[in-house]
Amino acid sequence: MLSEKRRDYYEVLGVSREADLKTIKKAFRSLARKYHPDMNPDDPDAEERFKEVAEAFEVLSDEEKRATYDRFGHAGLSGTPLRDFSGMSFDDLFGGFGIFEDFFSAFGGGSRARTSQPRARRGQDVRLNLEMSFDEAMKGLKKKIRVPNWAQCPTCHGSKVAEGKSLKACRTCQGTGEIRQVQRSAFGQIVNISTCPKCQGEGKSVPRGAGCKTCEGIGKVKQHRTVDTEIPAGVDSGMRVVIRGEGRSGELGGPPGDLFIVVYVEDHPFFRRNGADILLEYPISFIDAILGAKVEVPTINGKETINIEPGTESGKIITLHNKGARYHNSSQRGDFHVRIVVKLPSKLDKASKKLLEELDKTVDKKYIFKGNEKLIESLSSKE
Ligand SMILES: [Zn+2]
Ligand SMILES: [Zn+2]
Repeated sequence: MLSEKRRDYYEVLGVSREADLKTIKKAFRSLARKYHPDMNPDDPDAEERFKEVAEAFEVLSDEEKRATYDRFGHAGLSGTPLRDFSGMSFDDLFGGFGIFEDFFSAFGGGSRARTSQPRARRGQDVRLNLEMSFDEAMKGLKKKIRVPNWAQCPTCHGSKVAEGKSLKACRTCQGTGEIRQVQRSAFGQIVNISTCPKCQGEGKSVPRGAGCKTCEGIGKVKQHRTVDTEIPAGVDSGMRVVIRGEGRSGELGGPPGDLFIVVYVEDHPFFRRNGADILLEYPISFIDAILGAKVEVPTINGKETINIEPGTESGKIITLHNKGARYHNSSQRGDFHVRIVVKLPSKLDKASKKLLEELDKTVDKKYIFKGNEKLIESLSSKE
């Protein structure tokens, strides 16, 4: 969990040793977003960076742990259990009911006042998968997407209780909205304060039997919203398209979350893809390979005529520049490559056979060893 060569926590967050809590929170929020594994699916280093950032934040945002660290460095905290953030999804951390929010309230540097006054919360991010055809990925796609959402309950208007009933003090936390746990360590008592899981920190809960029937006492109902989305041309499997502000609604005036669309592109029957480059294997006859020809090939933008030079070998690649897929977030295109495969007939009729035998007598065989003369020399010198 903790790596051997540990960097200074202030350095990790990029803040000065005098930084106040607000600055530390701000630095953490932006670094955690930057390095969260969900945001960096292809970067194995990001997860390590993310853990480092989370650990630094946990210590520097806690008055007691920070004081210990300032005096004794990393060694001073060796007996202190730190939270492990690895494996938590982006939603867990940044969603409206996520750990990140709990985390702030638990280590929020004495801002206890929030328990009686629930704060505005940012809506959760929503992640949806979208399957699309190869063609759609090449051309881009406009699509209406149904996004799950919560809306205020129309019956109780968010109060959670049935008409004439009211909320009572939460019994789990005795109405304080938080749970305190005392731990002993070499450096004295550590008080861990976390948000009450029963009432989500509100200090009040719905008495038995008093809940609103429509929303079952949660004050909100599930709903779907239709969002017009535009998937840009050139997307590939695994890419994410982020649509800001189209996630779940925020609470108590908080901003909405974001919508993440993860695309899955179906394979094409004959186009292969390598980033923005497209490859097509195209068969031609051996006669065309010898004599040269103009052939029509399918591309992602319709048919194109390509020129086969006389004497084209199997495996030759003919490149059509800027005719590939669009690069992500760019107007540039990759290339379209045609790999020529020379096909030989497996059966010949008598007439054709005769013609080829005639031809065989007239063709100078030197072309076979062209560029490979040493091979033929080695055979003649042995005689
Ligand atoms: Zn209700
Ligand atoms: Zn409670």
